[in-house]
Amino acid sequence: MTEFSGLELAQPLLRAISDEGYNTPTPIQAKAIPPLLDGRDLLGVAQTGTGKTAAFALPTLHHLTQDGSKLQPMKPRALILAPTRELAGQIGDSFRRYSRHMGLRSTVVFGGVSIRPQIKALAQGVHVLVATPGRLLDLMNQGKVRLDAVEIYILDEADRMLDMGFIRDVKKITAAVPRQRQTALFSATMPKSVQGLADGLLVDSVRVEVAPTATTAEKVSQRVLFVAKDKKRALLGELMADVDISRVLIFTRTKHGANRVAKHLGQIGVDADAIHGNKSQGARERALKGFRSGKLRALVATDIAARGIDVDGVTHVINFDLPNEPESYVHRIGRTARAGASGMAISFCDHEERAYLADIEKVIRQTVPVDEEHPFHLAQIVQGPGPAGKAPQRKRRPNRRRSQRPAARAA
Ligand code: AMP
Repeated sequence: MTEFSGLELAQPLLRAISDEGYNTPTPIQAKAIPPLLDGRDLLGVAQTGTGKTAAFALPTLHHLTQDGSKLQPMKPRALILAPTRELAGQIGDSFRRYSRHMGLRSTVVFGGVSIRPQIKALAQGVHVLVATPGRLLDLMNQGKVRLDAVEIYILDEADRMLDMGFIRDVKKITAAVPRQRQTALFSATMPKSVQGLADGLLVDSVRVEVAPTATTAEKVSQRVLFVAKDKKRALLGELMADVDISRVLIFTRTKHGANRVAKHLGQIGVDADAIHGNKSQGARERALKGFRSGKLRALVATDIAARGIDVDGVTHVINFDLPNEPESYVHRIGRTARAGASGMAISFCDHEERAYLADIEKVIRQTVPVDEEHPFHLAQIVQGPGPAGKAPQRKRRPNRRRSQRPAARAA
């Protein structure tokens, strides 16, 4: 796992991070900070709660401290746009905290409050300006701020910015910022309108994406089933006897694995199809349509193929294989429990996957409860050391969710 010390951030920032009590970078930080430090443009798909503010604030402060901290009145060097005053305020607070050991100044401007103190702060000069679009345009029109010294331009919650009708304001502001600059755009979702905005703003950008770790993991009830590798298919068959599993997304690590599982499901009378990179676009679309309409009860997918899948009402996610990247786990389980609905994620873990499970539990900061009562439960996997020797000794937990056990068991 990446450490903050490995990210080549300036010492005063590392000190501030330590003051904050952050131990390790969150996934969006680990992914976004290196390209931003390299000066690349960036598209970040991440929600609030993922640590995205620090993901852009730390590299911004790092750049500002590297090339001298000269201050010019009314001319910020970094501009952060946010859709609401609450968010702008939070971002401003973060910049203040992260820059506490540096001589850098920042201010926040938003509407609904007196403009005078904002004008005064800008006149004194700030390195970082956090602003909502409307008030910023006001200040620009009054000649109280100039954006021609902006080197770093960040748009946060771009989807919300567009939903709130700020597109024209954003365009006007963008036109006032020099073309020669670093730009980053963050958005929780990526509808076409946001993609269009990003295309117009970013040059040769890096795209990074994370699921909202804690929140997703909290909403989805999860359990892990320890099982021998060669018993996974039979176990899946058992589970599918539960009619509550009405729309299920099943993940495998490989394309062949996806085909095999889909075929097996077909043989036991479950309407299923597979979706992966070896399938034609037409075949993928047919499978997705069938899944969406309810004609298919199960869709078997690899991680890459699942990226574009956006289907509501997925009752269960089954990890037939555990992913070797913990973040994929969060992505996968985030396919259920969408839009406030509850959902369930069931993971199969064989002996070789123990270390993957340990890594996942570190990232989600939870222990996934073990179902010890399913017919294929293999106690040795709980007790024995993982293949990489990484998995900790687990506490045995009784299965508290009897009602969610496969119906076939009760029969
Ligand atoms: P954000 O998504 O930027 O709103 O951040 C969500 C919360 O996570 C904030 O309260 C941050 O202080 C906190 N946070 C950000 N980065 C880390 C980290 N690396 N470790 C622990 N907490 C963090």
